[in-house]
Amino acid sequence: MKYVSTREGKTPVTASQAIIRGIAPDGGLYVPQTIPAVDGDLIRALCGMDYPARAAAVLGLYLEEFSAGELEAIARESYGANFDAASVAPLHVLDDETACLELWHGPTCAFKDMALQIMPRLLTASLRKNGERRTVSILVATSGDTGKAALEGFRDVPGTRIMVFYPRDGVSQVQKLQMATQEGGNVNVVAVDGNFDDAQTGVKKIFADRQFEKTLDGRGYFLSSANSINWGRLAPQIAYYFSAYCDMVNAGLVQMGGTVDFCVPTGNFGNILAGWYAKRMGLPVGRLLCASNDNNVLTDFIATGVYDKNRPFHLTNSPSMDILVSSNLERLLYCLTGDAGAVRGFMDALSGEGRYDVGPALGDMVRAEFTGGFCRDADAKAEIGRLWRERGYLVDTHTAVASRVLRDAQEKEGLRRPTVVVSTASPFKFGAAVLEALGAVTSETGPALVDELSALTGVAAPKPLAGLGEKSVRFTKWVAKEDMEQAVSEFLA
Ligand SMILES: *Cc1c(COP(=O)(O)O)cnc(C)c1O
Repeated sequence: MKYVSTREGKTPVTASQAIIRGIAPDGGLYVPQTIPAVDGDLIRALCGMDYPARAAAVLGLYLEEFSAGELEAIARESYGANFDAASVAPLHVLDDETACLELWHGPTCAFKDMALQIMPRLLTASLRKNGERRTVSILVATSGDTGKAALEGFRDVPGTRIMVFYPRDGVSQVQKLQMATQEGGNVNVVAVDGNFDDAQTGVKKIFADRQFEKTLDGRGYFLSSANSINWGRLAPQIAYYFSAYCDMVNAGLVQMGGTVDFCVPTGNFGNILAGWYAKRMGLPVGRLLCASNDNNVLTDFIATGVYDKNRPFHLTNSPSMDILVSSNLERLLYCLTGDAGAVRGFMDALSGEGRYDVGPALGDMVRAEFTGGFCRDADAKAEIGRLWRERGYLVDTHTAVASRVLRDAQEKEGLRRPTVVVSTASPFKFGAAVLEALGAVTSETGPALVDELSALTGVAAPKPLAGLGEKSVRFTKWVAKEDMEQAVSEFLA
């Protein structure tokens, strides 16, 4: 199976080439030319497997150049003792119809680990398959979560180095400490004197500097990125929809073959799009609920067919969903229409006028696949309190958005169906907001909040967060935004 760009539709490349490149030369995203089909026998077989075997089986349908044995070995390394749950992505049953899919048992306690623990291994295997001998150097500009997850994913992976830039005063104390204490012999973390946009612009400039590219090439390095539009990050996410379905069957919440709905807290549209691929492959998924916070550009898009980012940007308690440009939506529009010219037109309009209108026909197609909804901070907090009081279950602010959007939809329809709420972060990662939601008054900040939430609820904090205060700080350097390239050059000397 080959991959094409959403803005060109021709000139297929292999899966490994798509993973190495990340983004297509025309600025489009790589999508598989056809979506592989699964049947009931395969799903039944998956239900008897552990998580790494399920992941390898699903990935094998998309990554033809990788043998089954190779993928199984990669999946076992990626989803092993680095996760603090034996089943990797466990289902927590809430009631007779509803369960939470916990995707935050990896080393950074958020769902990005599901992709970033395996993607570096897929990337290095792809480099080998294409005869690349240089060391790949990953550059990341982060507003918080992605940087840490990428650092953990690439840490000590042979043939790779990784450097992360974060805004000096633009990340939370816990996030800063998570990155400053990063372990590994191939990693570097540097603060930038500026905001996230400055860091992001600086990284883009470095990528575009052809002279610097030559200099690094002479030293045996080339630059690449690990951001969320890479197919190597999307494909591993399809696997946990299959896994969740099997666990719903195994838990008796649905009969084999019956449909399961999924409600997904959404930002860049990567997570929920993976669920859509699973459905298209033949997994019995009912509807996909796209849950947003106050930055509800997707709710409006699903309702009207108009995508309009010209609106106020809200800082919310679910910061990983504070996004106005949901990049992966481009993949959906291409897959629904097969029309690269139309997609290019939409994306040009988005970067020009900040809006596009897909028209009534395509709008109906989107609505046939997705239901949208959003929830304010206050309602998400109330939902955290309710789940704790009624179910004794602690959720983070992003998961709370999804849970609330699901309940609103069910009340409106007066109907309940087997549903999985996708849980994307440990509540301890967003301790301040969660404590507030539980009615606690605190003067603590940073890592102390982790202990406080644990003391209040009796729920043990995940090890990577519980031990954060004791870890030694390795990275304290900061640079002016003009000096970022120099910092990269010193790291890759
Ligand atoms: C990244 C992230 C999301 C949003 O996922 P997308 O794939 O960008 O839609 C939701 N919740 C958390 C905790 C995240 O880190």
